[in-house]
Amino acid sequence: MSGLFDLTGRTALVTGSSRGIGNSLARGLAEAGATVVLNGLNEARLAAAEAAMAADFAPGQIRSLAFDVTSDVAAAEGIAWIEGNVGPLEILVNNAGIQHRVPLLDLDVKDWDRVLSTDLTSAFLVGREAARGMLARGRGKIINICSVQTDLARPTIAAYTAAKGGLRNLTRAMTAEWASGGLQINGIAPGYIHTEMTQNLVDDEKFNSWILGRTPANRWGTVQDLVGPAVWLASDASNFVNGQTIFIDGGMTVVV
Ligand code: NAP
Repeated sequence: MSGLFDLTGRTALVTGSSRGIGNSLARGLAEAGATVVLNGLNEARLAAAEAAMAADFAPGQIRSLAFDVTSDVAAAEGIAWIEGNVGPLEILVNNAGIQHRVPLLDLDVKDWDRVLSTDLTSAFLVGREAARGMLARGRGKIINICSVQTDLARPTIAAYTAAKGGLRNLTRAMTAEWASGGLQINGIAPGYIHTEMTQNLVDDEKFNSWILGRTPANRWGTVQDLVGPAVWLASDASNFVNGQTIFIDGGMTVVV
């Protein structure tokens, strides 16, 4: 690993990393040398994820803490626990997120609030608490996991689209206030990623051919496609990259 991308000795928190994209990003940061704190809501699933990953890394390099990223109190307690028990938090990946599919006319305000608080407010709450220590130390990296829906809309996912669009502007707002304090805050916007969760869409011939036709790279993304950009944005290799949202989408958002 080139020194520029080396994360050895740095403590990272990846929210929503008990499974899915967050889990792969956590593994990628650990492979680059970071000590990684996994997070999720379901304690049993989180403990299993920690055990599965810990076997591949040095003792103590993989830790975990279950807390609800939508709670201001839990976010403050979670960050304080990490700073006190693991190390000064240098890398935060705001990845936890949920989807809710329903036509806009049928969208209940409770579901709107649930999506907005998990996909947008959480990044404010966890980011704010993480930034306190980062600013005091004069360094830190925050990576907000956005989506192609940061820039584009589709029917039935209005709350998600609104939240992910907001997350890009929160990335800019954090940059406006914290970049001068030595922090770099950027977004990663994944396109359509082939995971267990999207296997049914890959298997759906009509949807799959729409994706391939709509994507200049003519394929689905993989979780591994996201790891390099995440390590870059977590490392010294991106020290003058501020407030950007990088689309990792095979070119989907640059064509019609
Ligand atoms: P996923 O497999 O459904 O995993 C979601 C993770 O978030 C789980 O670890 C879950 O924990 C955690 N979580 C949910 N609510 C939480 C809360 N209130 N507090 C703490 N943790 C919480 O999701 P994914 O598909 O990997 O997506 C991860 C991120 O990438 C999301 O922000 C999503 O919008 C974005 N994204 C995904 C895709 C894609 O193709 N999948 C594309 C673009 C963007 P539990 O296990 O405890 O429930």
